[in-house]
Amino acid sequence: MDARADDGTAVAPPFAVAMRGVTKRFSGVVAVDCVDLDVETGEFFSMLGPSGSGKTTMLRMIAGFEQPTAGTIWLGGIDVTRQPPFDRDVNTVFQDYALFPHMTVEQNIEYGLKVRKVARSERRTRVGDALATVRLDGYGARRPSELSGGQRQRVALARALVNHPRVLLLDEPLGALDLKLRGEMQIELKQIQRQVGITFIFVTHDQEEALTMSDRIAVFRAGRIEQIGTPSELYERPGSEFVAGFVGTSNLLSGEIARRVLGTFGMFTVRPERVHVVAPGTATTPDDIVAEGTVRGVQYLGSHTRCHVELDVGAEFVVDEQNRSDTAVDPQSLIGSRVTLTWSRDQVRKIETE
Ligand code: ATP
Repeated sequence: MDARADDGTAVAPPFAVAMRGVTKRFSGVVAVDCVDLDVETGEFFSMLGPSGSGKTTMLRMIAGFEQPTAGTIWLGGIDVTRQPPFDRDVNTVFQDYALFPHMTVEQNIEYGLKVRKVARSERRTRVGDALATVRLDGYGARRPSELSGGQRQRVALARALVNHPRVLLLDEPLGALDLKLRGEMQIELKQIQRQVGITFIFVTHDQEEALTMSDRIAVFRAGRIEQIGTPSELYERPGSEFVAGFVGTSNLLSGEIARRVLGTFGMFTVRPERVHVVAPGTATTPDDIVAEGTVRGVQYLGSHTRCHVELDVGAEFVVDEQNRSDTAVDPQSLIGSRVTLTWSRDQVRKIETE
């Protein structure tokens, strides 16, 4: 959407967050490169990308901790580009919690309200509500040192939610948690976001985390947005080789290899779980693509087994097979064996190249 009226004056885009032509340069490094972005009110929006792709810088500009070198940022239709952080209706939750160690949980959560001179009785109610939202009723009198990592992160979340911000910014908030707790917190965070209805902007480099929680995801690469879409759009219709490789695992077929396997030139991907290993000579239909290869590696992953297959035409393929029943076959014994791979033609995605 263009943020200019017919007469050329700036019009506030009607989004929780809108950015137009936002660039941030740090002495020679272009951290964010002319980005346009709209985040809808009430959305769980993730910024996903490898280290150094500009995600944190984006978040810090929305919070007001960094000033853009160029461009405009609106929050709820208000141009905040030159506003200091405390004048913006946003709160940030950081990976390291940033709790005050000498204060109790309750005092930590209450702090922002006290600074804003909210009346004591209202403070009590709002702190109680925030503790209930993050399922920490009864923990108000503890100090951060008496809590687990997951509980500390919930206090950090409650401390932000208590202010009822228009937008909550979360910078890798689950990064310090172990894998199991991280999975639990992903589900909980999404539930909390639905319950409070606040717009969440979530920064992560973990594609699985972004796919699990987000309504939409922006994939960042070198300071630019490579693609924006719902998790299934990004997974099913990656717009570039980069997105196909970053969001999930993809098998790539291009050039002469594509011509030999698919009968046409171009760049194509197919997901590992859509490819099947079948016994040589298994009957296939005209809609099936068939390729022969040799197993070069096998990873047993509990719910499924991942095979790395070198196709005779020269491509490396990854195939995920569900482990539907207990099997006595030693996966390592498959290494070196000849296999036939097959997948349906409608599972092949064309990647548009520039
Ligand atoms: P990560 O996932 O590692 O946090 P990121 O995608 O959040 O990475 P940013 O932290 O936004 O990336 O950094 C983008 C680029 O800007 C990097 O090249 C980084 O080195 C550079 N950069 C960020 N902050 C500064 C700064 N204060 N001074 C100089 N360069 C910076």
